[in-house]
Amino acid sequence: MPLQIYPVLCRAGQMDNYSYILADDATAATAVIDPSEAAPIIAELKRLSRAPDYILNTHHHFDHTDDNLALKEKYGAKVVANEQDKNRIPGFDIGVRPGETFMLGDSAAQIIDASAHTQGHILWYFPKDKALFTGDTLFNLCIGGLFEGTPEQMFQALQKIKRLPDDTLFYPGHEYTPHGAHDAFAFNNGNPDIRNYLAKADANLKQGLPAGPFTLAEEKRCNPYLRAQTLTEFKNLF
Ligand code: ZN
Ligand code: FE
Repeated sequence: MPLQIYPVLCRAGQMDNYSYILADDATAATAVIDPSEAAPIIAELKRLSRAPDYILNTHHHFDHTDDNLALKEKYGAKVVANEQDKNRIPGFDIGVRPGETFMLGDSAAQIIDASAHTQGHILWYFPKDKALFTGDTLFNLCIGGLFEGTPEQMFQALQKIKRLPDDTLFYPGHEYTPHGAHDAFAFNNGNPDIRNYLAKADANLKQGLPAGPFTLAEEKRCNPYLRAQTLTEFKNLF
């Protein structure tokens, strides 16, 4: 596995953010996605004997960018975010645009526009590694709130995710599985796949691990917001 992924729970019991440490094995290049809280991230970096070269942001919200500056100062890491958000990303260094590719060592990330939760929200997609970092766009069994966008925009963003390969694993920006389970049961009347999904989630959570990661195939079977086939069906979920 050339790209190693280490989830770090931040703001535990409050906002339950996930930051992720990405380590490209071939080159030792290292990145932190959405540094929400420095202390647990630094502890995990120490355990791994890694220092980040980059901080990768999905969007500007404080619970995803608050410790950009702390990690930048400590490690000299460069902050990489959507060029469009350069004025509201703390410590912004390197701009990327949707459609571009960013190289973390030998691991290639495609930048996908998912403007809806915020304008300029991006997804970090590593096709070779089958890994998708969805920030506050897609969570386990639910989706992010529409702070700066419309239901139409969110629907479009989710269609892009649905077109990615089924065996892609997705890594959300929060542990919201209990909330998602509520939505899944409310909207997916009697869908038998949800029980398997939640059994896996519970087993992981009981071990102190993230509920996921889930594949897009699993998510498409159970997440009501992905199951909606038309914009009208999607809007009826709000
Ligand atoms: Zn957010
Ligand atoms: Fe968030």
